[in-house]
Amino acid sequence: MDIKIKEEYLKQAVKLHRENPVVDAHLDLAGEILLRNRAGERDVVKKYYLPHFKRVGLKLVVSSVYVETGNLDKGWENALSQIKALKEDVKALDEVILVEKGSDIDRLLKEDIIGILIYMEGLDCIEGDMDRLNVLYDLGVRGASLTWSRSNLLAVGCCRASENRQTKGGLSGAGIRAVKRLEELSMFLDVSHLNDEGFEQVCQVAERSFIATHSGSRQIYRSYRNLTDDQIKALAGQGGIMGMNGCKYIAGSLGGNHLEMLCRHIEYEVEKAGESHVGYGFDLCDSYNRASAALQGKRYTDRDDCIPDHGQMPLVSAALLQRGMGAEQVKDIMGGSFIRYFRQIL
Ligand SMILES: [Zn+2]
Repeated sequence: MDIKIKEEYLKQAVKLHRENPVVDAHLDLAGEILLRNRAGERDVVKKYYLPHFKRVGLKLVVSSVYVETGNLDKGWENALSQIKALKEDVKALDEVILVEKGSDIDRLLKEDIIGILIYMEGLDCIEGDMDRLNVLYDLGVRGASLTWSRSNLLAVGCCRASENRQTKGGLSGAGIRAVKRLEELSMFLDVSHLNDEGFEQVCQVAERSFIATHSGSRQIYRSYRNLTDDQIKALAGQGGIMGMNGCKYIAGSLGGNHLEMLCRHIEYEVEKAGESHVGYGFDLCDSYNRASAALQGKRYTDRDDCIPDHGQMPLVSAALLQRGMGAEQVKDIMGGSFIRYFRQIL
């Protein structure tokens, strides 16, 4: 049984969402669009996402470009196809823009529009060629993580959530060069999925603020995908933001009680780092998994996400309010923190 939200808190949360910017710092949107395109579907954002985004005042969604392990042999082509598919999908939508610079964030706040910020979840596809980062930049990509949970030429990942073992080795020389090139290009760096040694090295070499788009607290749920207390402090200390992951494999789930766990992560990180370093990065995967299964002629019926869709985001904000968090704090978490970060970093 998930948290029962009282009507008064839900109303307050809905009002907060209507009047303040809302951000989701991690969604595998580009990949889902490509999967659905391959199944013959078009207008994916319009059909599956836009109504929910609009309903909850979502201003900015960070879309990852994630290449599945099975596609790595043609990783570069796959990544470019995802970027192209995403751009095609939103081209005709007047209310959606691609966010490429700080002033685009200002536009989002002034106009009735929604921004999509494209970033690479793992840089396997550049195959150690830093000039490909410039190509990605020219295509509108504005951030990257060095690796997903697996390892590549740049860094060792933290291992898959289901494996839960400590991996060894951090960034390679190429990984350090990639951090430098990303910084030269004013692209943001994401450390979610990096292992502990890699995190440590990033702290030493990064000169600009980096973030964790979708990671919770390891103290609340023991997964190497989540951050230790020292990492939370280090990340916040250099101006970074942590997007709270709402997937049950990362946040944990007390007998299916997703919201309870998500709130515990958020409250813990707010206590350790302050609300101005905490945000939402829900990593909602159910829709992607349904699309992927359908393409293989299967049905995906699991529920791995903390909420069924973005239209339910106020449930999380309402749960935080009901558990005693102040409205000003919730405003930062639901979008304020990430808005400030992206405006400054881009
Ligand atoms: Zn991820």
